[in-house]
Amino acid sequence: MPGARYKAMTAKGMLRWIFGFSIVALLFFLATIRNPDSQVRTTLNVFGTLVEIIIRDADEATAHKAISAVSAHFRRMHRDWHAWEQGELHAVNQAVAAGRSETVSPFLLPLIHEAKQFHRLSDGLFNPAIGALVAAWGFHADEPASEAIPTPGAIQELLSQNPTMDDLIVDGTRIASRNRSVQLDFGGFAKGAALDRAREVLESFGIGNAVLNAGGDLVVLGDHGDRRWRAGIRHPLDWGIIASVDLNAGEGLFTSGNYERFRDHEGRRYTHIIDPRSGMPIDRILSVSVIHPEGALADAAATALCVAGPSDWSRIARRMGVTHVFLVDKSGTVYVSPEMRERVTFVGTPPETIVVGPRWDTGAPGPAK
Ligand code: ADP
Ligand code: MG
Repeated sequence: MPGARYKAMTAKGMLRWIFGFSIVALLFFLATIRNPDSQVRTTLNVFGTLVEIIIRDADEATAHKAISAVSAHFRRMHRDWHAWEQGELHAVNQAVAAGRSETVSPFLLPLIHEAKQFHRLSDGLFNPAIGALVAAWGFHADEPASEAIPTPGAIQELLSQNPTMDDLIVDGTRIASRNRSVQLDFGGFAKGAALDRAREVLESFGIGNAVLNAGGDLVVLGDHGDRRWRAGIRHPLDWGIIASVDLNAGEGLFTSGNYERFRDHEGRRYTHIIDPRSGMPIDRILSVSVIHPEGALADAAATALCVAGPSDWSRIARRMGVTHVFLVDKSGTVYVSPEMRERVTFVGTPPETIVVGPRWDTGAPGPAK
């Protein structure tokens, strides 16, 4: 009987018990620091979206220091990579419009190189030089504009100026443009680049397992204990998840589509992804999700494949070096690459039609379902 044992406890026994308790308490304390299940969670409000950071298996003090460092980076990105805030990118755009060259900081320069590369790899479908078109469609504002849409004449005028990333001349840290109509808008891959940088910051603090989640666009570090991090691919037609996917250490999952930022005008929906060939918002694709270890590339590819559409996505994905693609067109048909098909698990009723793209290595058509 426990009561009897207490009664029988001597002073020495009591001391031993207190000592024993202290050891147990200390072990418990150490376990909460090193507990593989311990996680630090926080949410930052950046880029007009909430970024959730989950850090596992790190002591709390380090996790919080790392989060502060990430937060400082995000603030600078928000200012200096932004197409219409008064930051560094805006200054470059003003210089280009005035026919001047401009020196850029090491914070912005890598993005300019990446933007040129993604433009070339996507056959021009990803074109971050079309800021003027994006603005004309009313998307250079926190809330999309509500006034009239641009006239066909205004769009033709902007198209005839043909701004592309090839117009930009990068000489060391100096940027000039052959074409004054180039207006840089990095909205199509800035979130991916930002999460890549944030991952590097976490790594510099020795953090091995974490997730950085910007409203469903995410990058993971390491794993989730004994399993991989699992993420959901958002359903483009409702607020749920269409499929779930396991992410390998270091991968990013990015989705672009017509459901996030758009405006409705006279019964039609106009989204913020513009086909640089027509100057018109895309209208065949609801969403594209891409998995790739480089967040910036995954984000750029998701945007580019929205433009490529159901007939050309596979070719552009291959050009961009992206193997894991999940695409939903406006009829609800899902197109997947064979590699992505192996990764996803549909949630709820699977889509009626699933088209598996051709294999990369042989170009042979994928299995029917
Ligand atoms: P988000 O994930 O933030 O919704 P996306 O990755 O889908 O954004 O990219 C959309 C943004 O990309 C637009 O708001 C615009 O800034 C820019 N953009 C639109 N069309 C293109 C294009 N063809 N090429 C490159 N960037 C584009
Ligand atoms: Mg994108």
